Amino acid sequence: MSWEAAKGGGHWWDAAIRRAEHLAANADATKELLTFYAELLRAQKEIYDFLRSRQGWLPSGVLGDDLAVVREALPWLLRAVESNGPAPLAEESRALARAGVEEVGRVILEEWRAPTGTRFFAKALLQPYARWLAESGGHPLDRDLERGAGRCPFCGGRAQVGLLRTREPSADGGGRELLCATCLNVWPFGRVLCANCGEQRPAQLGYFHTPEYEHIRIEACDTCKHYLKGVDLTRLGLAVPLVDEVAAAPLDVWAHEHGYAKVELNLVGL
Ligand SMILES: [Zn+2]
Ligand SMILES: [Zn+2]
Repeated sequence: MSWEAAKGGGHWWDAAIRRAEHLAANADATKELLTFYAELLRAQKEIYDFLRSRQGWLPSGVLGDDLAVVREALPWLLRAVESNGPAPLAEESRALARAGVEEVGRVILEEWRAPTGTRFFAKALLQPYARWLAESGGHPLDRDLERGAGRCPFCGGRAQVGLLRTREPSADGGGRELLCATCLNVWPFGRVLCANCGEQRPAQLGYFHTPEYEHIRIEACDTCKHYLKGVDLTRLGLAVPLVDEVAAAPLDVWAHEHGYAKVELNLVGL
């Protein structure tokens, strides 16, 4: 099943895992990164399955109340990172395994209420939580973030990646969507519009790609000097935006060298 057909449930995660494995097998410079990301996605799917199959429990949307259950899922993540992650993350993983319940809870809550995108373990844990919260009909209640331009209408998260599913701009000027870095849901977004500051003047918005990644481009804004990647599914229907975004790591290097900061770092820290 393709990523697009896998609207929800475990299939959505399976499609992402398969894509990461496939890209890792065929990658050179990014092989290690993609192999690690595949392991992360596998751990996140286990967390998702754990939350989803819990008898008599649904996420309340108040993470402060759901924390006891969410924290129980942390060991999957810690194990995956300890055995597959880069040394600094593996070290952090061991430190977290030793940390008290209170401290772990505090970090997760901080990332939920005031996201930075840089608290790796909290972000990796919150993605399956927030996704299941959305799928199960809940709403985030103790995450009081603005819902303005470029913010996820469901949870207020920033965009991780943009995507195009139709070549022709539709009547609403759309066809472009953004994928939320926290809850991993997508929402429609203007085609010529900065996902960070709302800039609409075409002269301020630049697009860059290389022949190596025909279906991926850097979408940069010269007003706020931020960028994100856009994945064009009309060029490559097999792509899984979240995963292909990670695979195109060399484009991040290019963007940083040209003075652009990413709207939100992805899970592998790029
Ligand atoms: Zn969201
Ligand atoms: Zn901007």
